[in-house]
Parts: sequence; C-alpha cells; structure tokens
Amino acid sequence: MSGIDSLPPLREVIATHGIAAKKALGQNFLLDLNLTARIARAAGKLAECDVLEIGPGPGGLTRGLLAEGARHVLAIEKDPRCLPALGEIAAAYPGRLTVIEGDALAVDPLAHLTPPIRVSANLPYNIGTELLVRWLTPPDWPPFWTSLTLMFQREVAQRIVAQPGDDAYGRLAILAQWRCEARIVLDLPPQAFSPPPKVSSSVVHLVALPEPRYPARPATLGRIVAAGFNQRRKMLRASLRGVAPEIEAHLRAVGIPPTERAEQVSIEAFCALARSIDGAAAG
Ligand code: SAM
Repeated sequence: MSGIDSLPPLREVIATHGIAAKKALGQNFLLDLNLTARIARAAGKLAECDVLEIGPGPGGLTRGLLAEGARHVLAIEKDPRCLPALGEIAAAYPGRLTVIEGDALAVDPLAHLTPPIRVSANLPYNIGTELLVRWLTPPDWPPFWTSLTLMFQREVAQRIVAQPGDDAYGRLAILAQWRCEARIVLDLPPQAFSPPPKVSSSVVHLVALPEPRYPARPATLGRIVAAGFNQRRKMLRASLRGVAPEIEAHLRAVGIPPTERAEQVSIEAFCALARSIDGAAAG
C-alpha cells in the first residue's frame, strides 16, 4: 500500500512489470505519490471533470488524478510495457480510467472525453512544446480544454510565462498569454524524477480565457509574431518589412516606435498592430 491508494508503491510497480526507463521515450518517472497528488491538485477541482493525461508511464500522476477525484481519466501512452501497470490502476478505480496505447501526436482523444475537460501531464520533453502549441492554436476559441497543467523543462516554462523585456519573452509567451492565464505553480529539482534528467523542471498551469485578451485575427497575429521574433535583435521596421506594405505607418499608428525590437512589445500592442494591418487590407 502506498498512502494515496491501496496499490503498490511505484518502485515495486516498475520492478514487477520491468519498466526500466527508456531515454528515447523521454521517460523520467515521478515515484513520490504525495508529489503526484500535489501536481494533480494544481489542476484545480477535478471531481466534475474528465482529465486527458499524456504519457502516464507507470501511473504515478494517473493515481494522483484519480485519488484527487477526477471523474474520468483518459491516458494515452506509447510504451506497451506500461499497459499492465495501468490496467491494475483501472481495476482499482472501476469505470474511471481509460488507457489508449498510441502516439499522443497521432491519437484524437476527443471522442473519449466529455466536457469540462482538463489536461494534466508530465510530458515527454521531446513532444511537450509541439503538443502545447497545438492545444493553444485550435481552429476555434474557447478550446476543448478548460485548463492545462503541464510539466516542462524549467527553461520552457519560463518562456511560457515571460513578460516583455525578459530574455525568455517570445512567440510561446504570446501564444500562451493572449488567450490564457499562465503561471508556474511548482518547481522541481532533477532528483524528483527517476532517473533524474539533466535539467530542473516546472509545472505550468494555463487556464483558457473565454475570449482573447485583445481582439486580433490569429493568422495575422501569428505572422507578425513569427517575423518579429525570427529576427529578435532587429528593429521591427526591418523584421516586419515582409509582413505588410507600409509597416512603419502601421507601427506608428498604434504607438509602437518603428525602431523597437519585438522583445519589448506587449501582447496588447502586437494585437493592435494586427488589427491595423487587417483594417488596411480590408479597406
Ligand atoms: N507520467 C509519468 C510520470 O510522471 O512518472 C511518466 C512521465 S515520462 C516524463 C513521459 C511518458 O510519456 C513516458 O511514459 C513515455 O513512454 C510517454 N511517451 C513518450 N512519447 C509519447 C508519445 N508520443 N505519446 C504518448 N506517450 C508518450
């Protein structure tokens, strides 16, 4: 027994099922069930929510989510060696855990989930940013999820919550904060994982806003931000030259000095620039 439930401790689960960590699958497991329960709590109230978990591995976070009362957990795991251990958890929580064996980048989970839906995951680092960008850029807003509570390398977490003027401020901060509240809720040292990764990690909690903070067409905002930060040391009048005709006039019209660099410009100002460009294109 392990404290949060009647299942065996995770070290025993890993030994019983022969789940030696594989680097190629980004396997750094959390073995402390008190910690996984804490991460589960960071996702907010779970009782009336379905939870999508990517990469449950031997199931530490899965057990945290279920012990904290998640209505239903849908877990997508690529490594078939983990399935027997996850099957034992499903048996301990009848009807509340569904496991899909597959690649999270290829599986569409929506058929198996009922809103409200929260996403919680200790993500494999190699696909974490790609999944986050997908979740932040759905065809329509609000998205299918109400919150994302995700483990990242600390450097990526800092890019998500960065403010204008920070070294880490860029495309990811704007994507995340334009339509979400984003904050770091937990910092973890390498020793919290088995095996310990080379870098520290942080859990980021993002809550989807009902509407974007400032109006803008996502495609136009995306083009401006991509061009501005592709050449982040250049002045905007140069880095945005290819984005729209008369770019200097648009920058001035919305109060951005054309000599400014992207890393100093707020999300509000980028949105105003997008509207100015779209207004000129429409008119
Ligand atoms: N959630 C577990 C924990 O906290 O101990 C494991 C986290 S480990 C960092 C990442 C997990 O994602 C591993 O179990 C790995 O097998 C799985 N994984 C890796 N690539 C995946 C993919 N493309 N789709 C689904 N799962 C994947």
